[in-house]
Amino acid sequence: MDLTLLLTQTKTAVDIAKFIKSSSDTLDKSGQKLKLAELIEALADIKMETAEIKSLIIEKDEKIESLKNQLKLKNDLIYEAPYYWMKNENDEKEGPFCQKCYDASKQLIRLQKFGTNDRWKCHNCDNVFNGRGNTPKRKGMKEISRGFSI
Ligand SMILES: [Zn+2]
Repeated sequence: MDLTLLLTQTKTAVDIAKFIKSSSDTLDKSGQKLKLAELIEALADIKMETAEIKSLIIEKDEKIESLKNQLKLKNDLIYEAPYYWMKNENDEKEGPFCQKCYDASKQLIRLQKFGTNDRWKCHNCDNVFNGRGNTPKRKGMKEISRGFSI
């Protein structure tokens, strides 16, 4: 993007147009055609430069929007091991979302309940997460009572 070039091209076109206007009585037909050709060329350069600038502005607007979304996500995403939660507009938690998918590829995959006992499964990477309310089964182990092994 070169705004200086655009301004220079615009000044050139304006100067040519002024010259044509001020010398319309003294310029012969071929002189007028030559100056009009220069004017058309200058206007074509301006059109090309303007299109390039417009395209860059659109690109930058998209980048700004993307960065805003990333910032919002960063502010609203909460990690509570073993998974993520998303804060909504009412400051409530939504989710949970898969930690592995988000950390690896920034994908927010909602976890699905997997049986009972606070277990959650990601249908994208097939990981299963045990929530904080999960109580591990102790098959084949003796019960621990009052901190002492019996
Ligand atoms: Zn996953």
